[in-house]
Amino acid sequence: MALIVQKYGGTSVGNPERIKNVARRVAEYTGRGDQVVVVVSAMSGVTDNLIKLAKEIMPLPSEREMDVLLATGEQTTIALAAIALHSLGIRAISLTGAQAGIVTDGVHTKAKIQNITPKQVHRLLNEGQVVIVAGFQGQTVEGQITTLGRGGSDLTAIALAAALKADLCQIFTDVDGVYTADPRIVPSARKLQEISYDEMLELASLGAKVMQSRSVEFAKKFGVVFEVRSSLNDNPGTLVKEETASMEGVVVRGVSLDKNQAKVTIIGVPDKPGMAARIFKPLGEAAINVDMIVQNVSHGSGSPSTDLSFTVDKPDLLKAKKVIEGLQAELGYRAVTAEENIGKLSIVGVGMRSHTGVAAKMFDTLAREGINIDMISTSEIKISIVIDLAKGEQAMRSVHAAFVG
Ligand code: ASP
Ligand code: MG
Repeated sequence: MALIVQKYGGTSVGNPERIKNVARRVAEYTGRGDQVVVVVSAMSGVTDNLIKLAKEIMPLPSEREMDVLLATGEQTTIALAAIALHSLGIRAISLTGAQAGIVTDGVHTKAKIQNITPKQVHRLLNEGQVVIVAGFQGQTVEGQITTLGRGGSDLTAIALAAALKADLCQIFTDVDGVYTADPRIVPSARKLQEISYDEMLELASLGAKVMQSRSVEFAKKFGVVFEVRSSLNDNPGTLVKEETASMEGVVVRGVSLDKNQAKVTIIGVPDKPGMAARIFKPLGEAAINVDMIVQNVSHGSGSPSTDLSFTVDKPDLLKAKKVIEGLQAELGYRAVTAEENIGKLSIVGVGMRSHTGVAAKMFDTLAREGINIDMISTSEIKISIVIDLAKGEQAMRSVHAAFVG
């Protein structure tokens, strides 16, 4: 008998038929005597729709109220999933994040899990119930409803698997596993049998969209081995785990395109010590995730100034621009612009540590396609570039062909 945490994403619970399908899969495991905790997302499109509704009323709604609103999406699914299991004669009970003992900090819409006390989950499992937990949500110690950031159901599943010391954690989704690239954009993309946490982390944070990156970080920190697989068939998925020596043999494990980034450029920032700190501190305090930062060489000799660009998640663009605009009097920069039509293309592989000429090959491939590079950043195991969004998919296909085949 094993204790298994299974997470089903939005498309896997997208309609009543799919929810029944989830129940049948869960039944296979309970039939073998396994204990199953099921974590579900909101039905596909529901969260987006709730956000849209709120924004039709006000462009920057209160984040506390957004959490109250968005948490309803997952709450709908847990009840429906429990009902689907009941219809098969299986004992099951739904729990909100709070009821499952998930305690978070108070940063609304991006809360971090502080601790999990899964006493109630254990008790219900021991009574022979399937326990269905709402993903994406938690509660502060003061009892406020919080959410864990977009895609946060993954984090709920991984964190619960760690807290429950589960034998197995399965992330069921609408793809067969982790691919060398998004197969909808790159038809020749291949499914990977295994991938290291670090590679997965880069791919997730780069917008490969298979999983929320914070959940992979969490898995790495607590050594939770998990499998990403499809809820629509029985194919084996991709195992995500600690790096092994043989993984270095491959230079590029995957290529990803992040269309969810936007760029802010501050023009004419006085070039003197402390400016960058005064720009990025308030952004951090506003809980805005800054990704790439590029600062140009200084121009002008009397009072030199420089242009500074950085990228943020698209939904944070308005907020970021507002923060920067609020600093104009203090910093004395000339202007600020916001650009939404960018894409971030990245190649990722632990093999980059031991291979050379990787960047040159990537840039050369893009040059042949006549694609202009706007920003570049690198780490030990990845190279990212910002390009025009309209050229993103073409760039992705050519880079994938050059490195993966
Ligand atoms: N429903 C939330 C979202 O769409 C959380 C999740 O699906 O993981 O972001
Ligand atoms: Mg998701």
